[in-house]
Amino acid sequence: MTKIKRRSAVLLIIILLLAAGMGIFLFRYFRDGRHWAAFSANRTAYTDGVLKHGEITDRDGEILLTMEDGTYRYSADTATRLSTLHAVGDRYGNIGTGANIVYRDYLTGYDTVNGLYRSDRKGSVALSIDAGLNRRAWQALNGRKGAVAVCDCDTGEILCMVSSPSFDPESPPDSFDSPEYEGVYINRFLSSAYTPGSIYKLVTAAAALETLPDAMQRTYHCAGSCEIGDDTVNCMGVHGDLSMREALAVSCNCYFAQLAVDVGGKAMKDKADALSLTSSVFMDGVPSTKGNYTLSSEALDTAWSGIGQGQDTVCPAAVLRMMAAIAGKGEAPDLTLLKDGPEGGSAVLLPEKTAETLAELMHNNVVTSYGESLFPGIRAYAKSGTAEVGGGLSPHAWFVGYGEKDGRTLAFVVLVENGGYGSSAAGTVASDVLTAAFDG
Ligand SMILES: [Zn+2]
Repeated sequence: MTKIKRRSAVLLIIILLLAAGMGIFLFRYFRDGRHWAAFSANRTAYTDGVLKHGEITDRDGEILLTMEDGTYRYSADTATRLSTLHAVGDRYGNIGTGANIVYRDYLTGYDTVNGLYRSDRKGSVALSIDAGLNRRAWQALNGRKGAVAVCDCDTGEILCMVSSPSFDPESPPDSFDSPEYEGVYINRFLSSAYTPGSIYKLVTAAAALETLPDAMQRTYHCAGSCEIGDDTVNCMGVHGDLSMREALAVSCNCYFAQLAVDVGGKAMKDKADALSLTSSVFMDGVPSTKGNYTLSSEALDTAWSGIGQGQDTVCPAAVLRMMAAIAGKGEAPDLTLLKDGPEGGSAVLLPEKTAETLAELMHNNVVTSYGESLFPGIRAYAKSGTAEVGGGLSPHAWFVGYGEKDGRTLAFVVLVENGGYGSSAAGTVASDVLTAAFDG
């Protein structure tokens, strides 16, 4: 009897283990089946590594790409193809952050009951971008290299994302081997890091507001240049004695160079880290390129860092998220390229009081420096940047910020490589795209 009991017990344990194993498998099948089916070696889903089926549209249902039996058909409109290429992806998968790669789990047409074995299967993905807005940004860049992006500060949806140079995927050039196509497969919004120039004065201001109790009251002198130890930092103007509000509006180098030295390199680095400028921000699981802040014991290095002309670099995606955080009283939503995407998270990048002060200063910039006529009918908050890049080349032009209208808040980042002066070169692009974003 004992032997039978023992055998029964062993059998029962085996049955329970099998049931548990099946339970785990089914759980994972329902959770991960879509992902397993999209495995890149699955010949049902891919031909030569290219996804066979699927459809990608913009937020209004405008078709950007249809894939049928491995044949890719892009939008019939040339400007749409050029301006949405980096969002949608190219047919060979060279643009690694394209939607045809990032969302392939959804595009295969997989469903839990039929898997991939349905003749009419075709998954569809609606992106958050507005194709019309992308075309507008593309036209505003007018052939210049750079990046333009706009996001909704409440949802984190990217409404516009353009990277230039681009190419027509329906008639690609014979060769990309010319300066015109330099880095053409890179989505410059997400995968490039640039010298920030004067937009970094917002980081210096934030660090000062949290480090120096009298930050808003203290003044520094600008005589067209200032001495930092035995060295000199030059300014674009001769500004005299300035407060932070005045210094940010005229973008005085002397003010922010001296302020950064008083804040100290450590606090400057901590602020860059807290703002996620030195780490990747994730958009639908895709990491952005990390920016950099090099901590130095030399006051001159800290001074240059305070005006964004040191070793510092920033990725436009991280800058856009920082703008959303300033708009959101310190809290920014996760960025997404999906319309009505899965409920994203959010992160607190700044203390509420700092965010509110920066917002007030950035609005003052628009009123006193750039002109409210740049954003008609919009309450706008902005900072320009002119980032010297050396080598005899024109500086990179930045214009970043956000606008409020009719209860909506939209953040923007514009970078024009070698575009010249920030507010004139990039500011007009920002004006054009933000105005269209609210009106559209
Ligand atoms: Zn100055």
